[in-house]
Amino acid sequence: MIGEAFYHTHTAMGRAEEVKIESNANIKDPHMAILKIARMGHPVLARAADPVESLQSREIRRLVADMVDTLDDTGGVGLAAPQVHVPKRVVVFHVPENRARAIAAAEAARNGEDEGGETEAEAVPMTVLINPAIEPLDEETALGVEGCLSLPGMIGMVPRYKRIRYRADSPDGSVIEREASGFHARVVQHECDHLDGILYPMRMDDLTTFGYSEEMGRDELPLGERMRRD
Ligand SMILES: [Zn+2]
Repeated sequence: MIGEAFYHTHTAMGRAEEVKIESNANIKDPHMAILKIARMGHPVLARAADPVESLQSREIRRLVADMVDTLDDTGGVGLAAPQVHVPKRVVVFHVPENRARAIAAAEAARNGEDEGGETEAEAVPMTVLINPAIEPLDEETALGVEGCLSLPGMIGMVPRYKRIRYRADSPDGSVIEREASGFHARVVQHECDHLDGILYPMRMDDLTTFGYSEEMGRDELPLGERMRRD
C-alpha cells in the first residue's frame, strides 16, 4: 500500500472515511473478509505478480471485494494483491476528499520552504485496477512522503513521476484509462510497483529520510499508514 503522502491532522488520523463503491467496483459480497497483510521480507512481496486471465471469475470478484474491505479497515489509500498474499496483478485505491485537501494544504505549506512538492491532490473514488500499465507523461519527478501497510510504522521520501497515464481492466470488463498527477499519480505508482516486487524504499534516493514516523515527528500521514490508533 502506498502510504501515499499524507499529512495527518487528528481528524485524518481517526476512522477511515466511508468507502464509496462506484460502478467501477461491483463488489458487494456478503462474505467479505479482512485479509492479513504481508510485511516486507515475505517472498510474495518480492516477486512479479501474475496477470489476471479471467476478470469476472469468482476468485477475482472475491479477491477484489476482500481487498476493498481490507483497505477500508486499515484506513489506507491503496492496496495491491501481493500485500494480501495473492500474487495477481490487482490494485485497489482511492483518494478520499479530506485526504486530498490535507495533502494539498500540507504541500502548499511545504512549498513555501522548498520546491518540488506536490500541490495537486484531487479526490479519486474507489478504483479497482486489473493488469494495470503506467506510462510517465514526462520526466518530471517530485518527492513525497510514503508509507506502506507492508512496512508498518515506517515512512520515507520517495521520488515519483508527477504526471502519468495509466490503463487497466476493470472488474466489469471495461477499460479504465486516466491521466493522473500529484498524489493520485503517486498512489498508482506505489501500488503498481507492488505488482513487480518493488517496495518504496527501493525507489528512495536518500535513505536519511527513511524511518519510523513516530520518531521523525512528521506532520504527514503516509499513504498506507494505519490510521486507527485510537
Ligand atoms: Zn505499499
